[in-house]
Amino acid sequence: MSLLDVKNLKTFFPLNSGILGKSEYFKAVNDVSFTVNKGDTYSIVGESGSGKSTIGKSILRLINITSGTIIFDGKDITSIEGEELRLFRENLQIIFQDPFSSLNPRHKVKDIVTEPLIIFNRIKKNEIEKQATELMKKVGLPAEAIHKYSHQFSGGQRQRIGIARAISLKPRLIVCDEPVSALDVSIQAQILNLMMDLKEELDLSYIFISHDLAVVENISDYVAVMYAGRLMETGEKNAIFNNPLHPYTKLLLSSVPEIKKEKKEKIKETVNESFAEEKKTSINNASFCPFYKRCPEAMTQCKTAVPEMKEIEKGHSVSCFLME
Ligand code: SF4
Repeated sequence: MSLLDVKNLKTFFPLNSGILGKSEYFKAVNDVSFTVNKGDTYSIVGESGSGKSTIGKSILRLINITSGTIIFDGKDITSIEGEELRLFRENLQIIFQDPFSSLNPRHKVKDIVTEPLIIFNRIKKNEIEKQATELMKKVGLPAEAIHKYSHQFSGGQRQRIGIARAISLKPRLIVCDEPVSALDVSIQAQILNLMMDLKEELDLSYIFISHDLAVVENISDYVAVMYAGRLMETGEKNAIFNNPLHPYTKLLLSSVPEIKKEKKEKIKETVNESFAEEKKTSINNASFCPFYKRCPEAMTQCKTAVPEMKEIEKGHSVSCFLME
């Protein structure tokens, strides 16, 4: 059952005026559609600058979208404003990448994690400590943590505090924007396990934004692969990891850690080149496959038209002329 339907989402940022005053845009998100089902973890994977974080901010309505539709639990939330938007945000929270800068250093933990409850009038002042203590228990921190400041904790503990804050309002969907990429590998697994436990316990759904395919493979139900503002391939986790069809997905998958060092270096080079290319092709890229300059299988038509997203097998869609 769908919880979130994103249809033809476009989020463009204006650049300078071009020749004859023609406007140019950085097309951070360009005609993206996907569905998150209730209880699922939907991962969006791609390099830095591919537009995946912009999708998260667009859904949360933290930035203005250019066009498209966002349906949450059957309600069109694309244009809601004011009090309606404020109340909607109760349903949708975010966990940030950097637990060091996302927590107010001047506030005690009890104030940080209960702030959303206070903003939404869901708690009385004399209930703050009790509620904060319960949230600590849920994220595996001791009760006395509520009296400390965020700088007194390690990176992993701070991310637990960030998670406690995100779940305080009992949201339905949490956008997790690279939530473990700033942490040591040994801590990453603990935080991911906590997130998966909370998902079950609180009946949550996640949009999980990451550049790390190993992490994504561990926790996802569905995966969307993004490049230069567009979705290249979407499908169930097993379809993407066991049967990748898009040349970019294949490139990303070949860069996971098990491969040999020299091959890894070569791929790193190619991915870095791809990133530079992504930035260029995200500007007014209306008429060609955004990946064609890097694609080992590019054909003439790839330079003159944008491939449509096509369902190749049930629930597995690809945007590539090779699939036609
Ligand atoms: Fe490569 Fe062409 Fe497919 Fe784009 S459409 S990924 S350039 S084969």
